[in-house]
Formats: sequence, C-alpha cells, structure tokens
Amino acid sequence: MTAPSANTTEASLQNDFIRQIIADDIKANKNDGRVVTRFPPEPNGYLHIGHAKSICLNFGIAAEQEGRQCYLRFDDTNPSKESVEYVESIKTDVHWLGYDWEDRLRHSSDYFDQLYEYAVALIKMGKAYVCSLTAEQIKGYRGTLREQGKNSPYRDRSIEENIDLFERMKAGEFADGEQVLRAKIDMASPNLNLRDPTIYRIKKVPHQMTGDKWCIYPMYDFTHCLSDAIEGITHSLCTLEFEDHRPLYDWFLDTLKTACHPQQIEFARLSLNYTVMSKRKLQELVENQHVNGWDDPRMPTLSGMRRRGYTPEAIREFCDRIGVTKNDTHIEMGVLENCIRSDLDPKTVRVMAVLKPLRVVIENYPEGQVEQLEAPYHPNDASMGSRQVPFSRVLYLEQDDFREVPPKKFFRLAPGREVRLRYAYFITCQAVIKNEQGEIVELRCTYDPETRGGSAPDGRKVKGTLHWVSEPHAITAEIRLYDRLFNQPNPGAGGIDFKAALNPNSMEILTNSQVEPSLANAVAGIRYQFERQGYFCVDSVDGLEGALVFNRIVTLRDSWAKIEKANYKDSL
Ligand code: ATP
Ligand code: MG
Repeated sequence: MTAPSANTTEASLQNDFIRQIIADDIKANKNDGRVVTRFPPEPNGYLHIGHAKSICLNFGIAAEQEGRQCYLRFDDTNPSKESVEYVESIKTDVHWLGYDWEDRLRHSSDYFDQLYEYAVALIKMGKAYVCSLTAEQIKGYRGTLREQGKNSPYRDRSIEENIDLFERMKAGEFADGEQVLRAKIDMASPNLNLRDPTIYRIKKVPHQMTGDKWCIYPMYDFTHCLSDAIEGITHSLCTLEFEDHRPLYDWFLDTLKTACHPQQIEFARLSLNYTVMSKRKLQELVENQHVNGWDDPRMPTLSGMRRRGYTPEAIREFCDRIGVTKNDTHIEMGVLENCIRSDLDPKTVRVMAVLKPLRVVIENYPEGQVEQLEAPYHPNDASMGSRQVPFSRVLYLEQDDFREVPPKKFFRLAPGREVRLRYAYFITCQAVIKNEQGEIVELRCTYDPETRGGSAPDGRKVKGTLHWVSEPHAITAEIRLYDRLFNQPNPGAGGIDFKAALNPNSMEILTNSQVEPSLANAVAGIRYQFERQGYFCVDSVDGLEGALVFNRIVTLRDSWAKIEKANYKDSL
C-alpha cells in the first residue's frame, strides 16, 4: 500500500466501530491476523463524494498497517450499463485520492468461469434450478413483506434437466429473459432476498472485458460474496442497504463451503445536503445537459470536484471528520467547504483579482508613471516569497466595493470617503462618473503619496482595505462562480422530481474579470486565493488555450452577506 504519508496521522485519529471489530479480530487471531478489504465500484458512472467515504475507509484501513491489503474490484456484471470510460475514470479518481491498489486490480468478470462452476455446483447439490417463468411472473410469485411467496412450478426440475438447461442458457439457445437460474432457498422466508433469488440471467450483450464469450451474467448478490471469498477478503464493508442481503451473502458461502468466508459489515452511506449522490441521478443530469458533463465543477463527482479545485487532502480530511457509523445522517455542505478552506489556507498564495471591475482614475497620480509594489504571497508564511505588483494612474476596483449611498457598517469606498488599497496607498473618492443611463462607469479619486505601503505618517486610520489591479497591466480572465447545484437541502424529497430543485443560479460566468499580471504564467490546476474573494483554480479543460479561465473553489466566508441581510431587514 503506497498511501500518502498524511494517512499515517489521519489513521491514528480513527477509531470507529469497524476498526474496533478489526482490532478485536486481530486480537482473537481470526483470519490468522490478516486484514484484506476491497472497494467494489460498478463501472456504470463516475465516482462521487459518497464513494470517497468508502475508498477512504477500505484503502485507509489497509494503509494503517504494513501487510494489510485492499483490492480495487470492478463489479462488472451488467455490461449494458458499464463502459471502459467509467473504468478508467474510477482508476484515475482512486489514484487521485491518494490510494494505490498495486497488483490488486480485479474485475468480477475475471471470475466468470469460477462463478459458473459455483453455479453448477449449486445445481448439483439441488440448491439451484432453472426457472422458466417470465420476469413478471417471478415477481408475482415472490409475495410481499406480509405475504409468503409461492414456489415456482419449475422448482422441482431434476438436477440433470437443470444442468442441461443451464448449459443451453450459456450456449445461447434462449432469448433474454426466457430462463433464469435461481437459488433454491425458501419462498416462505420473511427475508425477501432469500425467496429463491435469481443468480444468473441471459443478456446477449458483449462485455467490455470478456467480449462475446458470455451471454449469461451472474447477479450482484451471487457475484459479490464469491468474489470476496476468491480474493480472500476478511472484512467486506458495505452500506446499510445491504444489511438485508447479508443472510444471502452468508448462505452462498456456507452452502458452497468456500475456503474463505469474509465478514460483511454495514455502515451508513454518506449523504450531503444540497446535492444528489446516486449515479442514476447524476447520469440523468449529464444526459439531459443540466450540467456540462460528469466533471462539471458543480457535480459531487470526484472528477467535478477535482476540476473545481478541491484537493485530495481536503476530501480525505472530510471523510475523516464525518467518521463511520451505523446511523444515516445528512452532512451539511458547509462541513465539506470548511475542509477545503482549512486545507488551502496555509498552502495557497494570495493574489489580487477584480471579479467585476469598476474603473478608477487617480487624478493626482502622474500620467505614465508605474511603481512596483512589494506584495507577499502569504500573510503568515514568508517562505512563500513575494512579487511586485504594478501601480499606475488607472486602476480597477471591485464594483461591490463602492456604494454611492453606503449602508450602515459598509466600510469600503463611498463619495468623499478614504480607504486603503492593499500594499499601496490611501485613496479618497472625489467624483462619480455616470453614463446617460445613470450607471456608474468610473470613479475619480485622489491618492495620498505619504501613505505608500498602507499607513499614514500622521496616524490617521481608514476602515476599509480594498484589492485592486492596475488597468494597463491587468490580464482579462473568465471567472466561473459556482453555487450549490440544488436549492433544496434534500432534492427530490417528498416524491418531487429531484430536477425541480436544480438551482438556476448555480453558475455565474464573468468574462471580464481583471487579474494581476503575476497570473500570466498560471497553469491548469493551479490554485490561488484571490484576496477577499475566495479560492480559485485554473480550469483544466477550458483554462489552457487563450484566455485564463478560473473556477471558484469556495468563498472565504460569507460575513458581508449576513450583514447585508440584516441591514435589509432593518430597512423594512
Ligand atoms: P449509487 O447508488 O450512487 O449508484 P452504488 O452503491 O450503486 O452507488 P457502487 O459502484 O456499487 O455504487 O459503489 C461502490 C462502493 O461504494 C460500494 O461499496 C458502496 O457501498 C459504496 N458507496 C456508494 N455510495 C456511497 C455513499 N453515498 N456513501 C458511502 N459509500 C458509498
Ligand atoms: Mg451499486
């Protein structure tokens, strides 16, 4: 396991119920002290932040001690929904999160031959039969939670007949859905999963790994436990909805007397406010173009979060903070946002960028003069160095940093008011220039040459410090501001279509932002803190050619919005 070194410290903080079970097992010398886990994604979509919880748990446990192992196993038993694109994206995401399966990359399809033999073994034990009911009929015979199921009329076929039919299923003699192989367990079981579950179905679809070799494919419940057993998994960790499947998991392994019988342990799946996490729903968003692909920075996918600028460290820290329990809880989006803030704060350089520019002319600054002002890259870390920021007579300030009629507690620029320009001078607003429509197009200001560096020799104070860029030196950039993809905490709750909760304002594109010249050599994926605005990352898809394109990863915090809301209330 070559996990990031960060993991050793992360790991020592963890002591959830699963790790306790593992510790007890080791003490009891169960499995001769071995610990082997697996992460078993179905390659039918891109991974999301919920999968990250499972990855961090399975690979994290393996990374905690020398000799432990974790497999990456593609659960690829439904070729009609799966693809190589998904397989490749999943590998990329797991590596990006900081984990490595080394030589333990597997596919359920690697075991198709063995699984077939196991199915034949069940038939020979009289524990499986070929059923010729239609899917509809099988459903009807199944019963309900209150009502027992009925035996299929095909349940008592002879072993010979079953073997023959199963071979012919495999040989392609029947159409899709014409026959299935079922385990013979108990149609009266209170657990619906034990009512003669289907273990093989006919699907005349080529498979991305096995090509045309198979036209019958094993079902999840049959495949999963046996794949675990084949790999020698000791602890098979899955989400709570599989609790009711555990008796079936154990039934297959007990009945087939596999050498290894992993222990299935269930934990609560992650659900995050203001987003959805099912691959089916995410797929729908992609297909109906509600978002721009699986890696749209608004998506809760790992590829979307990576493109937006999230770090693997932040996501691992998030998984660490939320922990592993048996209780289903909704996690606030704010928890995730705080993780990325605290990860980026110490390691991200500060630069100045004006998102929505307002032109400012410093009337008493000599025309043609340019000064280079020293600006540190990080306020608390001198080792990050500094750069020179050019200052000149024409600047851009943020439109939001000026109010013609300033509300209470607005400490930024207003007519007649003096503020500090970061790393530069105090300026005072002298006049507001408007166009014929009455819109503000320019401010006329004066500067105090005595305040170079940001303090006045006479000790006078100003309350606001604003970021700025010099107009002739600025670089135009596109900046994409993201907000939550949904405007309801639990999209789709109450039976309403989850797409009705899509936030129409989840992306705002600013095409005329102005950034300081040091960003001329910004490269895809690089992150900055734009002072007073938040953390931003150069887009890795559109940020390469021509104009710079930045994604906002996260805002710094939202204090002004709160004040403004309060003011608004005061004014009612
Ligand atoms: P989805 O419902 O999003 O399609 P899935 O469970 O069908 O997810 P799989 O590819 O089968 O997706 O999942 C691989 C592993 O990731 C499984 O062990 C599953 O339990 C786990 N997993 C999936 N979603 C979550 C989640 N939200 N929280 C924790 N673990 C998850
Ligand atoms: Mg699944």
